[in-house]
Amino acid sequence: MGSKHPNARKIVFSYSPMCSLKLGNIGSLVSFNSESSKMVTKRQVEVVIENGNIIDIGEKLGDADSFIDCGNNLVTPGFVDSHTHPVFVDTREEEFEMRISGLSYQEIHDRGGGILNSTKLLRESSEKILISKVKSRMDTFLSLGTTTVECKSGYGLDTVSELKSLMVIDKVNKKHEIDMIPTFMGGHDFPIDFQNDKDAYVDLICNTMIPKVAKQGIAKFNDVFCEPGYFNIEQSKKILETGEKYGLHSRMHCDEFSCFGASKLAAKLKVNSADHLMEIDKEGMDRLAQENIIGTLLPGTTFFLGMKKYAPYLELKNKGVEIGIASDYNSGSCNIQSMPFIITLSCIYLKMNILDALKASTIIPSKSLRIDDSVGSIEKGKIADILVWGIPDLKHIPFSINQPNINLVLKKGKPVFTA
Ligand SMILES: [Zn+2]
Repeated sequence: MGSKHPNARKIVFSYSPMCSLKLGNIGSLVSFNSESSKMVTKRQVEVVIENGNIIDIGEKLGDADSFIDCGNNLVTPGFVDSHTHPVFVDTREEEFEMRISGLSYQEIHDRGGGILNSTKLLRESSEKILISKVKSRMDTFLSLGTTTVECKSGYGLDTVSELKSLMVIDKVNKKHEIDMIPTFMGGHDFPIDFQNDKDAYVDLICNTMIPKVAKQGIAKFNDVFCEPGYFNIEQSKKILETGEKYGLHSRMHCDEFSCFGASKLAAKLKVNSADHLMEIDKEGMDRLAQENIIGTLLPGTTFFLGMKKYAPYLELKNKGVEIGIASDYNSGSCNIQSMPFIITLSCIYLKMNILDALKASTIIPSKSLRIDDSVGSIEKGKIADILVWGIPDLKHIPFSINQPNINLVLKKGKPVFTA
């Protein structure tokens, strides 16, 4: 393992939630700025936090009850990871072995592996076991600087198990420091018992699951895996439109393995985020740009599956599509929770510049999750979800591949992780 950057300094302070807190000796503070509508770097500023919110940013601010010396280091917003599947029992290492010996994701799926493998385990698992597994995954997210994480159900694929998965998210969320944004994803795959009557499963989602999910009141979003062999255009449309009718906002898995019109549907339905996009065509890009749909790229999955074709980030950017990046952490195709590592992959493989990568992992995902009025940037009035790094500036984030170099994670102004 690499050693800490020489500029890193141990942070010592006392914390009380009722008191004010000042971050000082900040080397550079990098965040989206709503007034200029761009990423801005500020030097030698201080940040004052009270009751979990940022109340002031500026030079030489007055005294606060406690003080954090940031050691002349980098300060950024906490990461917002807008695409994860963390509610599963165990990871599927055996499929990783199958893949490196030459089988594709689809071939493994056809042999009963993939999502359906996780489904079997999830259905058998108690809520208690799932809660303890998901809780420990949330501990890891937080230690890696992710302060808000979207969490999908979708390994249950029957009404009871989908509701159970959402309940697990809710129970962990209520006790954990991290903020979890719940998404229903009954449309993740077709369960074994519906392989020969796929429309019947779509009916089950629309007529039973979605009404019950809405009544349960936990999920905010509804997501579907729109892909040949999974949910076709018509089925995806029906699932998302039904969700909207019940107050669930739409997200989509689009153009991951092949292009058959998913992004065009995403534009037509004005979804909150069109995710993956490795195989998107020019028309799909134009449509996303025309409708101002956020594209969320998941380079961790391309990397972890050993695939060569990354999403066409530069083309999407040039067309004017706003781009977020997320981990796609799940039990099989991407065992990556670290947003700093996703930034590294985005810089290397998507040719994203580092400032854009920070924007794509903070304010843009918070916009796609409809929480950008309170989360995703260090600005007056926003929640104090802040990372104090052990590095002097932004370019060390993708370069420090061995460890994230985060000295301190503040969630709602409270220190929740210290290196
Ligand atoms: Zn996914």
